[in-house]
Amino acid sequence: MTDNDMQQAIGDGLSTQTIAVNEGILSKNDLFAARNRARFKASGLLVLNVLSSPGSGKTALIERTLTDLQGRLRGAVIVGDLATDNDAKRIARSGAPAIQITTGDMCHLEADMVGKAAGQLKLDDLDLLIVENVGNLVCPSGYDLGEDLRVVLLSVTEGEDKPLKYPVMFKTADVVIVNKIDLAEAAGFDRATALDNIRRIAPQAVIFEVSARTGQGMEQWYAWLEQRNQAVNAGASNP
Ligand code: MG
Ligand code: ZN
Repeated sequence: MTDNDMQQAIGDGLSTQTIAVNEGILSKNDLFAARNRARFKASGLLVLNVLSSPGSGKTALIERTLTDLQGRLRGAVIVGDLATDNDAKRIARSGAPAIQITTGDMCHLEADMVGKAAGQLKLDDLDLLIVENVGNLVCPSGYDLGEDLRVVLLSVTEGEDKPLKYPVMFKTADVVIVNKIDLAEAAGFDRATALDNIRRIAPQAVIFEVSARTGQGMEQWYAWLEQRNQAVNAGASNP
């Protein structure tokens, strides 16, 4: 064995060990996620994991969604934030139960935190559970929470290249919501390029263009959520 081969062998050994450690952490989360998913399914719940950068309008979208869906879907929210329970208080104005998880220095939610928070809700009385993740487009992509759908938000003020800068997050999205479309012109938003970037990185995702502030485009989103909820209920009664 030459020195180079030896270096290679040591290098391989080290990288294998690093991967094993990461897999250990992830699989513990995956166990909790599977447990959550089974509980949610048994309750006929549609569960969303909502992700974005800070300031894309997750809380506004969730507040409006639950307010407008009153009488159509019974919703609740679990909100993750580094500090403060401002968002949970804001969402509670919609009348829906809102549970705050204050993560401190942790920049993402993990499945066991969501499981504990869900324990404070009457899951059988709900149709829709929305989890607002910590504002961060990087590491939350690595943590399954037991959700049915990953919803990634992008606001027109953030620029068209967001999907290119955070491809890992966008590749795992089931839904991409382009928010704040009422500000598109003022922000100089290039809609065609943005949609092209989303479709290129996330061809699997359903795309909605909305303004949670004015309500523009929101009805299509609600109708789609109702359809998905019916599909979950059909799955629960005919396993
Ligand atoms: Mg928020
Ligand atoms: Zn993190």
